[in-house]
Amino acid sequence: MTANALTIPFERIADPAVRAIAEKVAAGTRLTQADGVTLFETPDLTGVGVLADAVNRARHGDRVTFASNQHINPTNICTLRTTCVFCGYARLPKEAGAYRYTLEQVLAEAKTGNNGMTREFHIVGGLDMEAGLEYYTRMFRALKAELPQVHIKALTAVEIAHIARIEKKPWAEVLIALREAGLDTMPGGGAETFSAAVREEIARKKLGAADYIGVHRTAHQLGIRSNSTMLYGHVESFADRMEHLQMLRDLQDETGGFLAYIPLAYHPDDNELGKKLGRQGIATSGVDDLKNLAVGRLFLDNFAHVKSHWIMVTPSLSQIALHYGVNDLEGTVVREKIYHAVGATTQQSMTLDDLLRLIRGAGKIPAERDSFYNVLRTFDAGGQGTDGGEALPSAVRELPSTVGA
Ligand code: SF4
Repeated sequence: MTANALTIPFERIADPAVRAIAEKVAAGTRLTQADGVTLFETPDLTGVGVLADAVNRARHGDRVTFASNQHINPTNICTLRTTCVFCGYARLPKEAGAYRYTLEQVLAEAKTGNNGMTREFHIVGGLDMEAGLEYYTRMFRALKAELPQVHIKALTAVEIAHIARIEKKPWAEVLIALREAGLDTMPGGGAETFSAAVREEIARKKLGAADYIGVHRTAHQLGIRSNSTMLYGHVESFADRMEHLQMLRDLQDETGGFLAYIPLAYHPDDNELGKKLGRQGIATSGVDDLKNLAVGRLFLDNFAHVKSHWIMVTPSLSQIALHYGVNDLEGTVVREKIYHAVGATTQQSMTLDDLLRLIRGAGKIPAERDSFYNVLRTFDAGGQGTDGGEALPSAVRELPSTVGA
């Protein structure tokens, strides 16, 4: 997997504490949680950045990947509406704005969303008592029948546990039924921050850390790969963040089933927690966004991929993040709803042109990937795509230059 030798520019690391961590990285010694806290605490952002960049370059060179994906959120009805106080997306069944798609609505959105060029559906929603195993197995079967080429990445660990609870079935049975219906991989949402004290404050009834890890472990044992996340920038401490990353790293050591790590920035608008904290209109800082990505790259040494979610931290910051350990960008996306419900002001989709410009502007080489991170096409600096070595007439013509409504 290593693309290049690890070359750390020690001369650009000003803080001796970060330089000591760089020595450990150079020696192949695993970082501790205390090292992670040091990286969060240091004012030497450049030092943290060049270290994460060196590790990322050793693994991936200058290549930055993205996928042509489409978000579908089939229901916003959620039993935890009143206790996940950071969430602005969920509704109670009879509340204004509540919705649950019919199968026909899901198919209509799936078919029209991306001019038929979507390679991955990212399907997540609320914990809806009327959306059980039958609802999702019918949906996945119908999607695979209509669009068999599209990968289905669906249902967080929290949703899997919810379906298992309402169906009174073990997680494994639910996962096997969903896989038979078409589930390919699982997203990493719902992790929030694992600390029990933090969960008590922001999501007191949500699936606990051990069960989140347990569902992912079960999925990995069944051969279902998944992603992992951490919601940061609310009430958690640096130590809480590192405890969270430790649990992800431990499971990855055990199963190797995680594909990517994706830190998610908390958005304080339009949710109870933001009001309580007096944080409305004050999102996470750019420094903290970059640190979360860089620390993920450095501490999660057994994860191949670290992704920046431009919907949450802006495309501009995601571009800079390509020099802070990030090798993957959220893809084209179609109609993102969940983060826009809590005040994200970024666009809801990105054109292929925009993505290519953003990646090239960082001096990197864009490449479209599939859901397992296999590179499908690499785009050269002149805008051409190569697929198996053969130049395509126009990279931009391969995917719609505008996606979404
Ligand atoms: S975060 Fe998820 S589980 Fe919690 S209220 Fe929102 S949709 Fe429901």
